[in-house]
Amino acid sequence: MLTQRQIFFEHLAQTSPDPIALEIVKANGTFLYDASGRIYFDLISGISVSNIGHRHPKVIEAIRKQLDEYLHVMVYGECIQSPQVNFAKLLTEHLPGSLSSVYFVNSGSEATEGALKLSKRFTGRTGMVCFKNAYHGSTQGALSVAGNEELKNSFRPLLPGIKVLTFNSTDELDLITTETACVIVEPIQGEAGVIIPENDFLNKLRKRCSETGALLIFDEIQTAFGRTGKLFAFEHFDVIPDILLLGKALGGGMPLGAFISSHEVMQMLSHDPVLGHITTFGGHPLCCASGLAAMHVLLEEHLMDTVLNKGALFRKNLQHPLIKNIRGKGLFLSLEFEDEDLNKKIIHRCLDKGVLVDWFLFASTCLRIAPPLTITETQIETACKIITKCITN
Ligand code: PMP
Repeated sequence: MLTQRQIFFEHLAQTSPDPIALEIVKANGTFLYDASGRIYFDLISGISVSNIGHRHPKVIEAIRKQLDEYLHVMVYGECIQSPQVNFAKLLTEHLPGSLSSVYFVNSGSEATEGALKLSKRFTGRTGMVCFKNAYHGSTQGALSVAGNEELKNSFRPLLPGIKVLTFNSTDELDLITTETACVIVEPIQGEAGVIIPENDFLNKLRKRCSETGALLIFDEIQTAFGRTGKLFAFEHFDVIPDILLLGKALGGGMPLGAFISSHEVMQMLSHDPVLGHITTFGGHPLCCASGLAAMHVLLEEHLMDTVLNKGALFRKNLQHPLIKNIRGKGLFLSLEFEDEDLNKKIIHRCLDKGVLVDWFLFASTCLRIAPPLTITETQIETACKIITKCITN
């Protein structure tokens, strides 16, 4: 009989030559458990998904309750389903008044797709602006606005009319014109290796978009839900986008994405043509029930209050001459090493010693730390000791 590992390599599509291939049998709080009985610190939260820890009891309870009521009943947008309605209400209560209409989808990539289409439809324009080393998803529209040629080249032709600007460079903003439908940007770039905006960059971007009538899209798929110490990262910078993209932690461990805009903009998808964006499973009741419970936990347990201190504790405990730089905000951190080889070695050693960390898509010399926000101070200290040892050898 084939083992699970053999079937995984034989019958599941592979995305890289060297998956970590941990055989997971359980996950709880900060920890993952594998089939051999080993326990791992999860310092990446399934890539910024498990912000309130794995399997929070209130999320499990909400999923169980919804299971007893209904699963899928009808394509998105037709029926009034309380998990969707209640979640949209809670989200919009915590957003500026102009972000009042939520379109639930299945993933981050689909949120990007929806937002790009919406921008074209609202402005009647086709040009788009994105940034070097940006990542907004893997579908063809989302890939078109990725800021990495290596990832894009094998899949051309992609969308035409895309300009790729330099993040944090205010000199290039006049490339945003009255032909630009939208500017899509992560307020803190994730896969670039956690790059923080500088020189009032986001404010200047906002200003240029307002001048030209281009819609400003903030991709907060990775940065929202407390990851940086605020519910949404844009709150650090006092800039409000025209469209907000959410995913990852939005579903509390279930697959869910959303693009959020004003009623004025969003209603464009309901006429000329009707059904301008269709999704069967978007806003699945189980996923919305889970996401709603997770957001309640985040708010009611005040998990965001400790994020900045916990981030500082990581920085304090990660002192090593081989770390060139630590960038980030809150519990979204990037440790930079001299070269890719060393970074990969450290990541592998950490896994061997029971700490799951990762690299970034477009920053191969950087090590990702983005644990559940529920990680305790003692857990941080223990994990940092292991990482520091793994840096030495
Ligand atoms: N935008 C950002 C900033 C992301 O980090 C990701 C996923 N890494 C996506 C979009 C795409 O999300 P998904 O994988 O759910 O399609």
